[in-house]
Amino acid sequence: MQYYLKIFGCQMNYSDTERIETILTKYKMKKAASIEAANLIVFVTCGVRQSAENRVYGQINNLRKKYPKKKIILTGCLAHRKDVQRRLKGKVDLFCEINNFPKNILKFFQNSKFKIKNSSCDASLKDYLEIKPHYTNKYTAYVPVMTGCNNFCSYCVVPYARGREYSRLAQNILKEAKSLVKKGCKEIVLLGQNVNSYNSKLQKGEAISFPKLLRLIENLPEKFWITFLTSHPKDMNDELIKMIAQSKKICEYISLPAQSGDNEILRKMNRHYTIAHYKNLIKKIRKAYDSRSHLEWTRGETSNRITPAISTDIIVGFPGETKKQFENTAKLFREMKFDMAYINQYSPRPETAAWKLKDNVSKKEKVRREKFLTEILKKTALENNKKYIRKVVEVLADNAVRPHSSLAARSDRLKYMGHTRTQKKVLFFSNKKIPVGSFVKVKITKAKAFGLEGELL
Ligand code: SF4
Repeated sequence: MQYYLKIFGCQMNYSDTERIETILTKYKMKKAASIEAANLIVFVTCGVRQSAENRVYGQINNLRKKYPKKKIILTGCLAHRKDVQRRLKGKVDLFCEINNFPKNILKFFQNSKFKIKNSSCDASLKDYLEIKPHYTNKYTAYVPVMTGCNNFCSYCVVPYARGREYSRLAQNILKEAKSLVKKGCKEIVLLGQNVNSYNSKLQKGEAISFPKLLRLIENLPEKFWITFLTSHPKDMNDELIKMIAQSKKICEYISLPAQSGDNEILRKMNRHYTIAHYKNLIKKIRKAYDSRSHLEWTRGETSNRITPAISTDIIVGFPGETKKQFENTAKLFREMKFDMAYINQYSPRPETAAWKLKDNVSKKEKVRREKFLTEILKKTALENNKKYIRKVVEVLADNAVRPHSSLAARSDRLKYMGHTRTQKKVLFFSNKKIPVGSFVKVKITKAKAFGLEGELL
């Protein structure tokens, strides 16, 4: 029996998929090399935008026509929606919310006469986050610390699709991180819809906030990097900023979704902060990281001063967003000089508060606004990246460039892809072979808007 996974959406979905793989493997299923070879296809879906949803409908319809006998499971953010279930009735064999996956898959296997072997999978496991994942990447691992959300931003499906906030026990996260580091993992990416509201306990009962959790992970031995996403501007506090400023392992990369640069739109989005607050936060973060990088530099621990990279998420064309209000977002982009931005055109999502508002910004205007912001982003990101030229940065080597790829054709030397602590992709050239998953020093020679090039030192 073989399975094939189709994954849509964010890192959280990729992390969930690593747990799904563990479950399927425990039932002695094997990963298929192609859809054709698979008996079971699992769709891990995303409901954040209509376009992602439409891709799921299109692919399931095509697959069902082509392969009437294959089993299809739909999980992730669309699984609970009755309208989705109605629309795909007869095409999907099981709709299964992610936290019920262990229990439901067992029932499904039993009922569908799948020839599954005995498994050590605990189907009664209440907390799917405690399933040991089948890590896709040995060196960069996703570790969810919490899931769900209590914020109810007016456009967002997460509180409906994933439910209210739930934090994993700190000792379980710590155990997972410890085991990863011991096995040679070099980067731990802590995931949560709103990591700042992480709140749990250690076995002895001590309350653990997100900064405290970071401290516990940071204190693990060995060299590794820590990244986390996503933060909510209303919840990012001085304690966290102080913590990251003191840490050597926490990377200089912050994902801080602004969503809009206009106070009235932020109010309609139910975001609970103002643009003045957002700007002040970025100022504080940059200052805090700056003092730390300077310290490391003067101690000679890194050969250059690293400026933190800031990434944001933006929605353009929220109901009623006027040209003037959009211009405030463009102004925010120019002022904040983001390194990365995920710019999305608003699409109404069932169940959310904004679903009832008139989606009155035309598609053409949304496209224009998205392009407009992308152009500003390209300029600011390039400007930021140019500061890396002639500097030596630490890079985690992700993979060797395959000899026949277009990147490889540009030189006879060995080429690798990696990334910096600021999550900048780096293509670097080397005269010697280096192990993937190692930290190396690279002298940057070229900067593009979304990447760097350099030479291995
Ligand atoms: S904070 Fe808002 S946008 Fe983020 S997951 Fe929660 S409801 Fe969605």
